[in-house]
Amino acid sequence: MRTLTVIVVGAGIAGLSTALALAADGHEVIVLDTIKEFTEVGAGIRVPPNSCKLLTEWGVDLGLIKKEVSRGNRFVSWKDKVLCEIPFSDDEFGAPYHFIHRSDLVEAMRKAAEKYAKNITQNTPLGLGTISIFTNSRVIEYDFNEPGVRTSGGEWYTGDLVVVADGIRSLARDEIIRAHHHPPNPLVDTGDVAYRILVPASPLLQDPDLTVRKLVTEPWATHWMGPEGHAVGYPLREGELYNIIIDVTHRTDRGKSVGEAEWSKRADNRELVERFKDGWCPIVRRLCGMTGEYVKWKLAELERPLECWVHPSGKVTLLGDSAHPMMPYLAQGAAQVMEDAAALRAAIFSQLSGHSLELSESLEFSISSALSLYQSSRASRTAYITRNTQVLQEWLHLYDGPAQEERDRLMSLRNDERNPVFWASEARRDWLFGWDARKIGQCQVGDGGKHVGGDIGGKGGKIPELPLFPPPESSVYPGRDLRGRLGIVS
Ligand SMILES: Cc1cc2nc3c(=O)[nH]c(=O)nc-3n(C[C@H](O)[C@H](O)[C@H](O)COP(=O)(O)OP(=O)(O)OC[C@H]3O[C@@H](n4cnc5c(N)ncnc54)[C@H](O)[C@@H]3O)c2cc1C
Repeated sequence: MRTLTVIVVGAGIAGLSTALALAADGHEVIVLDTIKEFTEVGAGIRVPPNSCKLLTEWGVDLGLIKKEVSRGNRFVSWKDKVLCEIPFSDDEFGAPYHFIHRSDLVEAMRKAAEKYAKNITQNTPLGLGTISIFTNSRVIEYDFNEPGVRTSGGEWYTGDLVVVADGIRSLARDEIIRAHHHPPNPLVDTGDVAYRILVPASPLLQDPDLTVRKLVTEPWATHWMGPEGHAVGYPLREGELYNIIIDVTHRTDRGKSVGEAEWSKRADNRELVERFKDGWCPIVRRLCGMTGEYVKWKLAELERPLECWVHPSGKVTLLGDSAHPMMPYLAQGAAQVMEDAAALRAAIFSQLSGHSLELSESLEFSISSALSLYQSSRASRTAYITRNTQVLQEWLHLYDGPAQEERDRLMSLRNDERNPVFWASEARRDWLFGWDARKIGQCQVGDGGKHVGGDIGGKGGKIPELPLFPPPESSVYPGRDLRGRLGIVS
């Protein structure tokens, strides 16, 4: 296959995934990032089977990491009543579902990338591509036609293809939208803020209550749902740590709000203790009390799914959160980022390997075709998943009342598409976790979440309907007009 020089902007999970995926096919990858050194937020990340199998293929050695294998998702009311348990079996989707410390994951990805470092691979039998990572390299300008990028240090980097993996506040996204003459698609506030907290698990392990000890010894992701907020907890590093994510609406956040221009803020646990003191079950109050200082994040998303990921030049594409930022409620953000990278690799391979390249008019044409194929294989899937994070957000944060009672009833339905939890339907779960992003051209999702059917990563079947939103009058986000934005009539 003809190999390419690829410039990747951003060395987050998206940038590293792209580098690993493309270098495996012999491409020369140059990764540029603003950061001075790699430091990851102290938090956990759930790595579902659809991305776990990609990491393994890219040579990321998860075997060296202390991690957990998830037993499943559990949904509990704020009064601690278990409403729904959705177990995962280890081998159902060809890879396990892991709970991992983010810094352990990024470190393992970096170690895998080091094997492609130029000076090592040139003389090894690997015969693979190369990865060069440059930190302290903020990209401040794009030449979409060359294609190339200029860093704040004044250097120009040019290649055959530029992959923009610069995260939710992407510099290039608006330029790409404008180049297509599409209307602006700004970032909008989701109404929620997320607290990411890690605590030592030992106090939980010493608790006289077996249910509390089991939070650590039996690795479920437990979701406690209540008015205008929910908490998710799961163990990490073979039971050394307990990861807590708390999502609350801005208006019920007790601490100093994360300002308009800010994305994250340090806070201490007094505001959490205060926020959850009334009505919440003892275990949630206990978890809040165990936290020290932590970081809280404003959650934003695009006004609507992005129609165009690729610049009209056909040489520059978005990838990862820059193209599809989503709320963390399905724990799929990073997984979708990794799927993007796998799909990009497959699309390039399909257009640049022997026959296709001979038939095409030029290398540029082949790259442009590959990017179109990549976008079409990714846009509908990521939009569908993003949409479901919005559905779940509304159900998770209901006040007690008729809608919440209906939610609790629906959540008790086993393997039923009316259950608002995405994973509760086997067909939806198969579609999500059984997806093999390396296979280009899998099933697409129609407008408004309607399925149009197709193959689901070899397992066969149709993409099911998304769960419905709760009744509008029960929404805790009345001013947000999500339904209006998404064109939902009922
Ligand atoms: C609370 C929370 C919990 C989450 N939990 C999960 C989970 O359990 N599972 C899951 O799959 N996902 C989860 N996610 C989502 C996941 O973290 C993101 O989807 C993923 O990390 C995005 O990766 P990225 O590389 O696209 O973006 P980023 O991580 O934002 O990386 C972008 C990189 O680009 C660099 N950069 C930016 N601008 C420039 C520039 N101009 N020049 C050079 N470099 C630049 C930045 O320094 C950064 O390193 C969670 C998210 C949140 C907020």
